[in-house]
Amino acid sequence: MSTAEALSADNPLATPSDLPFRLPPFAGITLEHCREALLAGMAEQRREVDALLASAEEPTFESTVVALERSGALLDRAWSVFGNLSSSVATPRLREIEREIAPLAAAHDDALRLDPALFARIDAVHAVRETAGLDAEQVRLVERYHLDFVLAGARLDDAGRARLGELNQQLSELSTTFGQNLQLATEAAAVRVADAAELDGLDDEEVAAAARAATDRGLEGYLLTLVLPTGQPVLAKLRDRELRRRVFEASVGRASAGEHDNRPVAERIARLRAERARLLGFATHADLVLADSTARTTGAVDAMLRSMVPASVANAEAEAAALRELAARDGVELAAWDWAFYSERVRAERYAVDTTALRSWFELDRVLVDGVFRAAELLYGFRFTPRPDLAGYHPDVRVWEVTDADGGEVGLYLGDFFAREGKRGGAWMSSFVRQSRLLGTSPVVVNNLNVTPAPAGRPTLLTLDEVNTLFHEFGHALHGLSSAVTYPRFAGTAVPRDFVEFPSQVNEMWALWPEVLAHYARHVDTDEPLPASVVEAIDAARLWGEGFGTLEYLAATLLDQAWHRLTPGDEVGDPVEFERAALAEAGVASELVPPRYRTTYFQHVFAGGYSAGYYSYIWSEVLDADTVEWFKENGGLRRENGDAFRERLLSVGGSVDPLEAFRAVRGRDADPMPLLRRRGLAPAG
Ligand SMILES: [Zn+2]
Repeated sequence: MSTAEALSADNPLATPSDLPFRLPPFAGITLEHCREALLAGMAEQRREVDALLASAEEPTFESTVVALERSGALLDRAWSVFGNLSSSVATPRLREIEREIAPLAAAHDDALRLDPALFARIDAVHAVRETAGLDAEQVRLVERYHLDFVLAGARLDDAGRARLGELNQQLSELSTTFGQNLQLATEAAAVRVADAAELDGLDDEEVAAAARAATDRGLEGYLLTLVLPTGQPVLAKLRDRELRRRVFEASVGRASAGEHDNRPVAERIARLRAERARLLGFATHADLVLADSTARTTGAVDAMLRSMVPASVANAEAEAAALRELAARDGVELAAWDWAFYSERVRAERYAVDTTALRSWFELDRVLVDGVFRAAELLYGFRFTPRPDLAGYHPDVRVWEVTDADGGEVGLYLGDFFAREGKRGGAWMSSFVRQSRLLGTSPVVVNNLNVTPAPAGRPTLLTLDEVNTLFHEFGHALHGLSSAVTYPRFAGTAVPRDFVEFPSQVNEMWALWPEVLAHYARHVDTDEPLPASVVEAIDAARLWGEGFGTLEYLAATLLDQAWHRLTPGDEVGDPVEFERAALAEAGVASELVPPRYRTTYFQHVFAGGYSAGYYSYIWSEVLDADTVEWFKENGGLRRENGDAFRERLLSVGGSVDPLEAFRAVRGRDADPMPLLRRRGLAPAG
């Protein structure tokens, strides 16, 4: 054994934790322990796989697939700690270890998935899966492993594998180029403003930020920097119409000419993906991606997207009519760069909601305990007991033990709600321990938010958005905590990308549910409940702008699909023309409502993990809205409903076909109408 693989005896990751629920003993774990355990864990898993390959007996489900599920226990423990620390408490040393480990981990995974002897065994088990006496979860597990290996290229001959390696290498480089071009082009497209008077409409803080942005680059005056999507937040505020036009054109023109031109990069990425898909036995890249999704087929994605286009177009047109009228009062003929500005005016005039004042009703601990936890107790019977004796990985982290209605142990819930240096932005849920009957483990999950802590001695107040985010992330946590599967591969949130947001989106419904809201939304100083009129205003304001929002999203989604439906022989021509034709063909081309991302800055699909998968957001929201209807039809916040949802859907994780689980709850396939109604795009039912 080389020194890199040796694990020192005092490494706390060497053996399973003996704390309750196998909570990692954070206090004793250093980054060097993690590094050592990651390296030793990879070596250990390789040895375990070599041992199973050395067997002379016929491969079976038990000796192959279950053995793989059991393998890599040390690596798993190390990753679960290191991965979470990397998101929540990163340091320069951690980043250094990450850079060292990343290529080794990729090579380790490749070596397993491209091992011909291992694939031969999986293929043999796969061939007889229906007649080997396996139960449904076991059959699914075999299929899951088989698909992983096929997508990694395990079925290819030597020439095919060599070509696949080249394509992966080129695609990885092109994605990096796309991302770098985009970053540089976005910086270069920042709009310079000489005179503060032109910034009329921005508040003092925003003007100061623009001045700082200019100074940071050694420039005089002000600089308006751009965010990723087409819509720029300043467009809602700037009164100077000419400046609005400049900002808009800078945004939509990004990376589409000159030094950082992403047109040829995007085109090349789409072509190489088409070739790779063909090599792996799929008609197009979209077919390949969808093989590992809930939607399954391009036809299913098309049918769902197409069903939403007419209503979105009609609603965006109705919104445009209202905006045109308002703009005409200023003598302005509405253009794309005026949309956000007049839309904000309509919102302010029709739906006055003072979002700053609202915060006084949303104190963090009350929202969590009297809102989020209480809804989970009423629905699922879960109880949450603080465990101050159990330490997290940072003093901000709090730990709760979760029990069932009958007092049975469920797992641990960790909450890490405050922003700090070393924590990445956004909000998320992740796991420290995945539930599995095979390994005898219960779930240990964590929610991270980025709430600004209040000054010492003052309660922390949330915005309405943060309240929603907490309910949302807790929905993921419930998915993890409810898990009751045999194989760790299927635990909790281990479901396809177009399904994973669905349970968390459903949980958002309880944030404004009257019985829940009345319980937690109490004024921090007076204890008064939130007035009903405010709740109504919040609800009404939500609908304004949904036509625009849905249409710009659908346009980007359909553009993503068009780029990934190419076959190797297709002529693409000029990418800008390709984009124009694709949008026109899908019926979503609009002068006033451009796609949320245009080709040259569509980072999610050309430099992120969402190629042919940008539809996932709305796909899971269709399921969500339809499920919200189901809860409402059945009396809302009732244990019977919670128990059914938990038993038929949350608890099964990835162990059954997700749409089957959905049907088990809903009694039929998903209907997009509830989502259209929620967004005000169809008449109320
Ligand atoms: Zn989410």
